[in-house]
Amino acid sequence: MTPLETLKKYFGYDNFRNGQETLINAALAGKDVLGVMPTGAGKSICFQIPALMQNGITLIVSPLISLMKDQVNALTQSGIAAAYVNSSLLGWQIAKVLRNAMNGTYKLIYIAPERLLAPDFLQFVKHAKISMLTVDEAHCISQWGQDFRPSYSKIPEFVASLPERPVLSAFTATATAKVREDIANLLGLKEPVTLTTGFNRQNLYFEVKKDKDKYAALTAFLKDKKEKNGIVYCATRASVEEVCEKLKKDGYNASRYHAGLADSERHGNQDDFLYDRAKIMIATNAFGMGIDKSNVSFVVHYNMPKDMESYYQEAGRAGRDGESADCVLFYSKQDVRTNLWLIENDKDAEYPDEETEKVLKERERKRLREMTFYCTTNDCLRGYILKYFGENPPNYCGNCGSCNTNFETVDITIDAKKILSCVARMKERFGVKILIEVLKGSKSEKVLRLGFDKLSTYGICEKSEKLLREIIDQLILLGYLLKTDDEYPVVKLGERAGEILRGNGTAQMKLSKEKPKAEIAESKKQFRVREVDNKLFMALRDLRLEIAREQDVPAFVIFPDSALIDMCIKMPTTKEEFLNVSGVGQVKMERYGERFLKAILHIVQK
Ligand code: ADP
Ligand code: ZN
Repeated sequence: MTPLETLKKYFGYDNFRNGQETLINAALAGKDVLGVMPTGAGKSICFQIPALMQNGITLIVSPLISLMKDQVNALTQSGIAAAYVNSSLLGWQIAKVLRNAMNGTYKLIYIAPERLLAPDFLQFVKHAKISMLTVDEAHCISQWGQDFRPSYSKIPEFVASLPERPVLSAFTATATAKVREDIANLLGLKEPVTLTTGFNRQNLYFEVKKDKDKYAALTAFLKDKKEKNGIVYCATRASVEEVCEKLKKDGYNASRYHAGLADSERHGNQDDFLYDRAKIMIATNAFGMGIDKSNVSFVVHYNMPKDMESYYQEAGRAGRDGESADCVLFYSKQDVRTNLWLIENDKDAEYPDEETEKVLKERERKRLREMTFYCTTNDCLRGYILKYFGENPPNYCGNCGSCNTNFETVDITIDAKKILSCVARMKERFGVKILIEVLKGSKSEKVLRLGFDKLSTYGICEKSEKLLREIIDQLILLGYLLKTDDEYPVVKLGERAGEILRGNGTAQMKLSKEKPKAEIAESKKQFRVREVDNKLFMALRDLRLEIAREQDVPAFVIFPDSALIDMCIKMPTTKEEFLNVSGVGQVKMERYGERFLKAILHIVQK
């Protein structure tokens, strides 16, 4: 069988997606591979197909326990024997898996990194033929990444202990150039065939909102989304509770998820969301790791996350089915302080020593700064994201909050001069709030006590406080000012301050004039992929839910939404036609073909 035939038979797809074939062929030719592809691009197929075609076992190292179970479930549904080994299993269960594995039962085994060097596992691999070792979420090996996991550092030791070096394949969704380099070096990939598909997800609409009343902004946003599924991420458990409670009171079908809930409730709520019984999930970032729910129409961040990596990963859970989806971030300055506090007080973080701790925390603060810039820039948001991940995007995407706002470019050189010289006169020792007070000539107790009313820059700005804040943000973004990361941030002159103060530079900034709503709706419409018969789609979704319940697996494990949509388009009437539906492989056709064909016929005849 060729890779393409394997794809069709087991997964029911007719074509490979961008990049998949390159990586599959390389692995089959015995080469190491590194795939950097955004969430939803289809990384799993890239190691699952070689795994099926090589003789021997493929081990997949993954830090995400819930993902392992879903993937093994999904593989089993497609007629592929797979298992997982992690801390959710009891000792005797692991022993059983390893016994079966010894007898050649499984083609794929998922394993948590900290289990690799366990004696029973080492004993097992000594006598087994491991054809490939796949490292999923490979960025976890890098201290430059957002999710450094010391247990990943053990992977090379494990590989060295194998009787024969297997093919190594590594995958990640988020990696800056530095992290990519680290992955290849630290894992010891040998001249890997490296593939970075673009990070762009054209169907996602990005926006940052800065409303004072976040809850009011949230309900305004949700108003025309009653039928849609979405996730609202909050920074803390307490705010999850609060937002969820309010939404329920206001008549929304919401559920909640955070690490403080009992296991049973957490799982129950997650299932409600996966099975479409709850429409909106209010959650901390503990939710969603490895959740492959395809019909998520929006991801709201009620608070700013700690870095762009986390943001893009979480926001990327929207629109996996290719339909247009919204990624909206509600930003407030308080979010910066919360995140700074979390960096200082992260109980889960593991640091080998104090020196490393210092370096890593500094990097976290730098990532936080870059996240904050995303929230304050008036430039194309998609452009900002793609640049962050090392791409070279155009300045205009037409499908983000910035591109959908009409801006006028205004010259702020004069204001910049006033602000910078005020910062200099205040000896670069104070925060934004008092800086603005001085600029506006406030008679506050602190200003008078410090004698700032005597400065020549006292009261020289007439602009509103809000506008001054925006201008200061912009000056920070452009490098004319610099804000420290301490608990009480201080504004200093930035590396480019000289250009303005010496009088040979100019600074511009874009100020927004909002576009009419209708125009925005029109520009978003272009990104809709297709319209399908809603009644048929609902009926198929109900059937999928029924089957998922019988089998006790999440609905998407039976079929992803994209397969249901394709059924609505193709309306198959025979088994052969059903096999032509994208996402229907041999085994699923045999298992579910009849029931789905019947459901389609039933609706069509009505
Ligand atoms: P990732 O791990 O990159 O986030 P997944 O491997 O979970 O993405 O794949 C995302 C979705 O795309 C899955 O539903 C998968 O079945 C689907 N998919 C993968 N490859 C193809 C393909 N060649 N054709 C159609 N759908 C595909
Ligand atoms: Zn844009």
